[in-house]
Amino acid sequence: MSSIHVLSDLLINQIAAGEVVERPASALKELLENSLDSGATEIEVRLMQGGIKLLQVADNGGGIARDELPLAVARHATSKINSLEDLEQVGSLGFRGEALASIAAVSRLTLTSRQASEKHAWQIFLESGAMSEPQPAALAAGTTIEVNDLYFNTPARRKFLKTEATEFAHCDEMFKRIALSRPETAFTLMHNGKAQRALRSAQGNPRQRIAAILGDEFAQASVVVDEQSSGLRLWGLAGLPTYSKGTRDAQYVFVNGRFVRDKLISHALRESYQDVLHHGRHPAFVLFLELDPQGVDVNVHPTKIEVRFRDGRAIHQFLYHALNKSLAGSKAGEVAMPIN
Ligand code: ADP
Ligand code: MG
Repeated sequence: MSSIHVLSDLLINQIAAGEVVERPASALKELLENSLDSGATEIEVRLMQGGIKLLQVADNGGGIARDELPLAVARHATSKINSLEDLEQVGSLGFRGEALASIAAVSRLTLTSRQASEKHAWQIFLESGAMSEPQPAALAAGTTIEVNDLYFNTPARRKFLKTEATEFAHCDEMFKRIALSRPETAFTLMHNGKAQRALRSAQGNPRQRIAAILGDEFAQASVVVDEQSSGLRLWGLAGLPTYSKGTRDAQYVFVNGRFVRDKLISHALRESYQDVLHHGRHPAFVLFLELDPQGVDVNVHPTKIEVRFRDGRAIHQFLYHALNKSLAGSKAGEVAMPIN
């Protein structure tokens, strides 16, 4: 065994990339979340070869100052939190300050950004984490991040990538989750030069966004959920039993705007459907749980897909009763009202 030594920054970031950037879809999630956190109202995604060759996200958000470009790609550097108190009531999707550093360590990354007050944009280029000086560039206000050749320098990782079609399917699924979570934001998705999805802003009419992603058929065969109790709110569309499926893949749950997979939530929702669904069938739903950020810890997992509730029992009861009530009072077709 050799002596103990501190790992290089590049290697540290490449190790972290294993957690944060499992595949192109996870890099896409991080880039989309950054765009949303920047206040973007329009986001364009371009992928080539399932996102392995190219993954580009362009937004019209607040942008990054020239002098902060190197910080944006530095590990543990973030503009989103300052203190433990901030973390405990975090409202942004990001806060760990590690996504861009991790992605840059396993790709060739170009970051171009322009704040509205600047005359032009600035651009940096990174390969295996090594960064160029900022260069002037042309871009409307906002940020464009281009990730080329994901895992080109980590062949062991690259081997775990599946076919282009499979990786694209994962990217598309991630795109859908994010697009569902922000109906007011306009999104487009291109793959290999072909338009795949174009979602205009559904400001004030989330049902339109849900229908655009899950189909009109689902929107017609679902009930509006909108229940509130002691600081908790559940809203969205819950599919009627007649719309049930053989798989769980039309189940979307968001906690404070973040897509999550949570056993407690799934259990409560499953229980609500139990009386109305046949065994082996799975309901479809898009549900948003909103609560005081202090009541939920989102810093459980690097990708933040898991959360921990301070009072899990109360959440479980609330979800069960809220959905039960919505389903009980429903008949197919009685769902003309848009939700707000
Ligand atoms: P985090 O999102 O956890 O802060 P990231 O590594 O994803 O960490 O991003 C680092 C920082 O770079 C962010 O805190 C933000 O200030 C800046 N940034 C990244 N992407 C964008 C973007 N699309 N628009 C504006 N700023 C961005
Ligand atoms: Mg981020």
